[in-house]
Amino acid sequence: MNVRFMKAVIDREVPMDKLLQRVLGRPFYVGSSCFCPFHDNTNTPAAKLYDDERGITLFCFTEQKSYRSSDVFTHFTNFSIQQVFNKIWNRLSDQEKTDYMDRMDSGEIVMSDVVKRFLDSLTPFKQGLMTYDDVLESILLSTISGDSE
Ligand SMILES: [Zn+2]
Repeated sequence: MNVRFMKAVIDREVPMDKLLQRVLGRPFYVGSSCFCPFHDNTNTPAAKLYDDERGITLFCFTEQKSYRSSDVFTHFTNFSIQQVFNKIWNRLSDQEKTDYMDRMDSGEIVMSDVVKRFLDSLTPFKQGLMTYDDVLESILLSTISGDSE
């Protein structure tokens, strides 16, 4: 699996607004401006979340740069892309895997259904009751298991 493919799967399977909220502990809304979490932005919100065919994207007007869910994992967690991808991939059905492979082969990047469900808070982690691996597991479990049928 090449990195580009792994990131594309992560970006489409993990809703970025929910992921940012979960990792950073403050709300993010698609279609709304926000403080860019990827640079020192505290004065005027410099970024906005968009939903497109590749998943949810954060565009930072100051940096003139786009970020996706895979970037959240690499910037704010210790999980590797491979690690996150493996967990997601193992939960996809054979049909979903085939769809991803086909779309990758044809050069087409089209989202199936972005899974909406997500666990609500990181409280157990903050309290030291969960390890980092548990947190990743719970994030992805709640994300991927949602509406596979
Ligand atoms: Zn920025």
